[in-house]
Amino acid sequence: NDLASLMDVSVNDIISTCMSLGMFVSINQRLDAESITIIADEFGYSVDFTTQDEEVDVVEEVDAEETLEDRAPIVTIMGHVDHGKTSLLDYIRDSKVTDDEAGGITQHIGAYDVTTESGKKIAFLDTPGHEAFTAMRARGAKITDIVIIVVAADDDVMPQTKEAINHAQVAGVPIIIAINKIDKPNANPDKIKEALSANNILVEDWGGKYQCQEISAKTGQGVEDLLEKVLLEAEVLELKANPNKKAVGSIIEATLDKGRGYVTTMMVQSGTLEVGDVVLAGSYFGKVKAMFDHKGAKLKKVGPSTPLQMLGLDGAAQAGDKFNVMESDREAREIATKREQIQREQNIRTKKHITLDEIGRRLAIGSFKELNVIVKGDVDGSVEALSDSLLKLSTKEVQVNIIHKGVGQISESDVLLASASDAIIIGFQVRPSGGAKKIAETEEVEIRLYSIIYDAINDVKDAMEGLLAPTV
Ligand code: GDP
Repeated sequence: NDLASLMDVSVNDIISTCMSLGMFVSINQRLDAESITIIADEFGYSVDFTTQDEEVDVVEEVDAEETLEDRAPIVTIMGHVDHGKTSLLDYIRDSKVTDDEAGGITQHIGAYDVTTESGKKIAFLDTPGHEAFTAMRARGAKITDIVIIVVAADDDVMPQTKEAINHAQVAGVPIIIAINKIDKPNANPDKIKEALSANNILVEDWGGKYQCQEISAKTGQGVEDLLEKVLLEAEVLELKANPNKKAVGSIIEATLDKGRGYVTTMMVQSGTLEVGDVVLAGSYFGKVKAMFDHKGAKLKKVGPSTPLQMLGLDGAAQAGDKFNVMESDREAREIATKREQIQREQNIRTKKHITLDEIGRRLAIGSFKELNVIVKGDVDGSVEALSDSLLKLSTKEVQVNIIHKGVGQISESDVLLASASDAIIIGFQVRPSGGAKKIAETEEVEIRLYSIIYDAINDVKDAMEGLLAPTV
């Protein structure tokens, strides 16, 4: 019964699904975690078993089907450095400034939205790159609906192109390919399509499922078509939200302005935010004093899929934090204070992410089913060899997934991906960059470095058999 109401389906549907899976259940039966996962999966849901702490979690009502209305897609642009991410974001934003707005200074507030020629809206996150994308995801924010991967037609599919594709795929976000710099005389889009297909990205005009558009972020050629493809993808995704309730959304970025106090860029994801609402974000709160769009125009009400800048929070909320609108100042303050307390305790307490030592304990309590691993190495051969051997360690109980592998130093984005996917990182004959090391410490991601493949395999094998002696 509980599961039915969580997923907004009838109890009978659940019971008959259970029967088809060989489980005979009654309406009030308690199900174990595995059964819940399997049943939810049948209905297209995934389950998050983290317990809701009623004191600090804001309970959100499930929206009834009839309250939902279409909302604009929210897009992130990723790709290799210098392939034209920033140019594309700038072109889209600047070409959409209408005449009467011209003269107003556009500000980089971390997000903007535009209206396409067909009259539909698209919102863009204005921080290009998969690092920002994955950093947000690591904090639990699922903001991006669609990823545009930019590849320069005069270059090639590069390491960061592959990484970006990987990050989008791990997050389960659909990809559209933009082949950029098509205005250049040495542009060779076919070569890019071929390189993409070698990386399992087969574009539509080659018979694949990925939409692809040739563009120039410099002349604007093809950009409107790209936006129409984004809208097409959005239609397939049936993006909807209930605009008629208190706003819920995510923090994009926050800065401290000398004159205005904390300036917070946020994305409303459902509901409508109004001036005067009491906003709670992480352990900060405050009344909305004023709201602006990216052109600096004042806003009174902001609906779903719309970015805005807000004045009124009492601190710098973190990118990726969720925000809610509360009934009263008092309620917001209470929760904010409790969250701060918990955060302080957690900083001293347990590790957040998986480590090899932790596997034995999780195995013992039966909560461990998958080990996610990122493999980095000095040469392709050893990365492949190590990945293959690790995959072969999979058992009936524990599945080993190589969620990302590559040649080169362990980077910040590797660590963020590990954090977002609860993975460990294995480095073979490579080290983490200074930045990566720092983030690994704060995010508590385990990085294991080896110079002998056999040692790496043995450690993982021992850990999976619960044999690794715990180190304290
Ligand atoms: P990012 O690192 O991916 O954000 O790349 P940028 O947007 O900074 O672009 C890198 C360089 O490529 C800049 O010098 C741009 O002017 C240039 N560029 C970007 N898009 C195009 C394009 O479509 N055509 C041409 N000719 N140059 C471009």
